[in-house]
Amino acid sequence: MAGIDYSLKGYQRPKLTTPNGEKRLLLHSCCAPCAGEIMQALIASDIDTTLFFYNPNIHPRAEYELRKKENIRFAKKLSMPFIDADYEHKAWFERTQGQENEPERGKRCTTCFDMRFEVSAQYAQSHGFDLISSTLGISRWKDMKQINACGIKAATAFEGIGYWDFNWRKHGGSARMLELSKHEEFYQQEYCGCVYSLRDTNRWRTSQGRDKIKRGVKFYKTAIQSLD
Ligand code: SF4
Repeated sequence: MAGIDYSLKGYQRPKLTTPNGEKRLLLHSCCAPCAGEIMQALIASDIDTTLFFYNPNIHPRAEYELRKKENIRFAKKLSMPFIDADYEHKAWFERTQGQENEPERGKRCTTCFDMRFEVSAQYAQSHGFDLISSTLGISRWKDMKQINACGIKAATAFEGIGYWDFNWRKHGGSARMLELSKHEEFYQQEYCGCVYSLRDTNRWRTSQGRDKIKRGVKFYKTAIQSLD
């Protein structure tokens, strides 16, 4: 909308409320760049939020550890509780067996989202949360309908757990996500996460005459003024 300043510094954040007055949100987080803007929006709305890092899809382990470390770094900065869940990569490979050649946003991704949401919902139910959501949907590479369908399915299976399908991309969310990533100089991953997405991204880059991904070396660069 014309006239509104959506920048991190100028945006007047609206006071968000949970869909049905839920009190405690368990926010599944995939990485710092996707989570950062959402974390700030939730804090600004005083919504009791705990981050849940459960991403057995990320390959290899060094990449998983780096993405997690970045997320922990920002959670500490904002004093947001962070749950470091297990790296159940064997279970992820078992579950996605036969879907190795699915394209991104295909059936393998549904399996991947299902697994992450089920474990999130289960943890939420057994630890006194009444709402789950995820940072996955803020990325424009993802299919929000696919993500939300998986989230709803998982929450429905666990009594007392709701799923929040808030669209974090809107009202400048995607632009602030990028702005914040640069400001915080987050690690900038160049593939979705699993070994198959790494393979397919490299295949595409090779077909375009580009170099393959060099993992662990690219960080967003500060290109903006201090927000302080
Ligand atoms: S491409 Fe991304 S969402 Fe799809 S299966 Fe791989 S890690 Fe999961």
